[in-house]
Amino acid sequence: MKNAVIYARYSSDAQKETSIDDQIRDCKKFAAGNGYKIVHIYHDDCVTGKTDDRDQFQKMLSDSTKGFFDTVIVWKLDRFARNRNESAINKVKLKKNGVKVVSAMEHIPDGPEGIILESVLEGIAEYYIYDLMEKTTRGRMGVALQCKHTGGRPLLGYKVNPDRTYAIDEYNAETVRQIFRMYANGASYSEIIDEMNRQGRKTAAGKSFGKNSLHELLRNERFIGIYTYNKIPSENGKRNSHASKPDDKIIRIPGGIPAIVSMDEWNAVQTRMQKNKHTQASHKAKIEYLLSGKIFCGECGGAMVGQSSGNHEKYSYYECSTKKRLRTCHKSNVKKETIENVVIDYTINYILSEKFREKIIDLVLQQDDEKQKNIQLINGLKERIRQNQNEIDNIIRAIKAGIFSQSTKNELEKLESEAELLKDQLLEAETMQSPEYTKEAISAWLSKIAARTKKSENENKYLLYSFVSAVYAYEDGTVKVVYNLGDSEQKIALSDMNGAGDRT
Ligand SMILES: [Zn+2]
Repeated sequence: MKNAVIYARYSSDAQKETSIDDQIRDCKKFAAGNGYKIVHIYHDDCVTGKTDDRDQFQKMLSDSTKGFFDTVIVWKLDRFARNRNESAINKVKLKKNGVKVVSAMEHIPDGPEGIILESVLEGIAEYYIYDLMEKTTRGRMGVALQCKHTGGRPLLGYKVNPDRTYAIDEYNAETVRQIFRMYANGASYSEIIDEMNRQGRKTAAGKSFGKNSLHELLRNERFIGIYTYNKIPSENGKRNSHASKPDDKIIRIPGGIPAIVSMDEWNAVQTRMQKNKHTQASHKAKIEYLLSGKIFCGECGGAMVGQSSGNHEKYSYYECSTKKRLRTCHKSNVKKETIENVVIDYTINYILSEKFREKIIDLVLQQDDEKQKNIQLINGLKERIRQNQNEIDNIIRAIKAGIFSQSTKNELEKLESEAELLKDQLLEAETMQSPEYTKEAISAWLSKIAARTKKSENENKYLLYSFVSAVYAYEDGTVKVVYNLGDSEQKIALSDMNGAGDRT
């Protein structure tokens, strides 16, 4: 029996959403059918996709170090993360603690192939979703240009008038003002949180404030009356390169909504935040060993571990653990920067090669079985919707004929709410059906991955996570890279790599 936890998330800004209870029920069913024992359930209710105040998610991540579970069951993979990159990174974190993530509704096979497949599926689904968003965005843009509410929960301190314009919600606006005032006067996040809790003041989601929610709030320029639409909040002060949108899609209208905070207070807060960011940044400079857990000594087979003789990438290297502990291996250390760049370059060329494309396309197209199952589900739902409609028609006929009692009324209400539910389920099933994993889509995705890599550490991490299974470093200066799709082991010379052009 494997010990598993369930993680469920309900996001209030989605149009159609499966309730926490339904998610948990499906996860339990999956666990029972697959030999998992549920030891704990985590759930975040009413989380908006834009803020990362997923307390229970964070708790689950930190609990994963304690070893009482080895699997996280999610209803669908989009419960686990808001995007593929975040998903990959969090999965790596869990994997380091021996914990894996499985989805109750989408079947993902185990093993290295499963990792690639999952990346492809998530990656393409993500493009598909952006495409869909693009379409709905056009309609909403018109509404946004009038500075009106475009859906979702309004920002803390605001309420929406019947004509969808914004008005100030006095009680919560006071919460916002107090937070700005306290921060401008030098209070720490903890002090602000304590004070808000003491007064019983809550976030827009009705939860207690946390550091993340305060951080987002203090940077939100809507509080000085600027109406914004489509503007992606930056994460931890850095601009999120994936989520950024072309400027013509961003609407920003100063004076578009009533201001809650004065310009003076806003400026004081931004100045202090800027200062804090600098002091924090100087402490940070943490070196990440991208090949950690994947790199091995070609001479003795021992794991190679990241070491640094200075607080900079330049002085960092990988060292054979056998050599370090027992001194029985004599493999020279390998410079971190050099080997990481070699492996990344080589992997980019590898995933762009025709051979790899063919393999991955085969693998993905095998997923058609899953699609067939979904088609059956869709047909079943359509049939039930038809039956439900028949029953509703019958009752309405009865009412017209003069038969009306409390029980017919109850029956009608029951059928109507069932109809709503069925329609939701159908929409859900159709949405899952929609991404087309065609040859072209897969190729385009691979090209995008290749083009994005090297631009940021996260992208590099993602590339290595998705495609590379192991790296062996040899004493003669060669490196062997083993990929997740198997049989692509190749030896390359570290020294040959500088400026090398086409390698296939
Ligand atoms: Zn060794």
